[in-house]
Amino acid sequence: MSALRTVVAGVSGRMGRALLEAVAADPGCVLHGALDRSGSTAVGQDAGIYTGGHAGVAISDQTAPALADADVLVDFTRPEATLAYLDACRKAGVNLVIGTTGFDPAGKAAIEAAAQHIGIVLAPNFSVGVNLLMQLAETAARVLNEGYDIEIVEAHHRHKVDAPSGTALGIGQSVAGALGRDLKTCAVYGREGVTGERQPDTIGFATVRGGDIVGDHTLLFAGIGERVELTHKASSRATFAQGALRAAKWLQGRGPGLYDMRDVLGLK
Ligand code: NAD
Repeated sequence: MSALRTVVAGVSGRMGRALLEAVAADPGCVLHGALDRSGSTAVGQDAGIYTGGHAGVAISDQTAPALADADVLVDFTRPEATLAYLDACRKAGVNLVIGTTGFDPAGKAAIEAAAQHIGIVLAPNFSVGVNLLMQLAETAARVLNEGYDIEIVEAHHRHKVDAPSGTALGIGQSVAGALGRDLKTCAVYGREGVTGERQPDTIGFATVRGGDIVGDHTLLFAGIGERVELTHKASSRATFAQGALRAAKWLQGRGPGLYDMRDVLGLK
């Protein structure tokens, strides 16, 4: 099978650079295009500036030409950028892997609508370990379904702009789904002042931001006399980039639809 013609968006970003490195290291992928926002100093330069070599692909802010003859666009940017790329991918018939987090309901609806026409993998976290954690979270929630208070604590670097993390919300969805609860009504985001006693059916979220933490997540079940903690710690963005390329390859030859990383990993 020929190498997957891969376009990377947001190449000047932290994840964009990790993706360029992952593509360069993966014989199953070839860099077909490199996109960044208009006005970025990266535009016009060779994509190799981020990987220490010559990529032979100029970084561009012109989406349609970059998508011509491409197999997939891998996008870890910002919601407004992703929605513009989504539209371009739908028009070009190019599959899309979305790692961007922080979509509002309208953004999610636009992704679902586009998935009628192209294959999309949308995941708040592309690491294999985190997706396993979500699976374990469901199992734990079914067993510890009474008498245990559930809290999710996440920590990320100081530059992260949304909270709680998409992954923390994903873990919350997994747990709430397993318990037949609606996360919209049972989530408690942070606490301050006189909060009153903890309500038993709530799922609490706490956020830590600092330094260069790549991404830590702990799911806590606190009962009387014991507690269970499931923790995942990412030490490098390479894990997300490799997972995103795995998803991109998995999409190849598959029909339109909206998939997540658990589909890719066969965990469903
Ligand atoms: P970053 O700020 O380092 O990079 C963002 C990139 O997006 C930059 O290259 C920037 O130029 C580009 N961009 C911003 N606005 C744009 C626009 N309007 N049009 C085109 N490009 C635009 O951010 P990051 O740390 O690389 O994270 C990017 C996203 O990926 C965030 O939403 C983050 O939460 C998410 N993320 C997801 C996972 C996952 O596994 N799903 C892992 C890590 C990060």
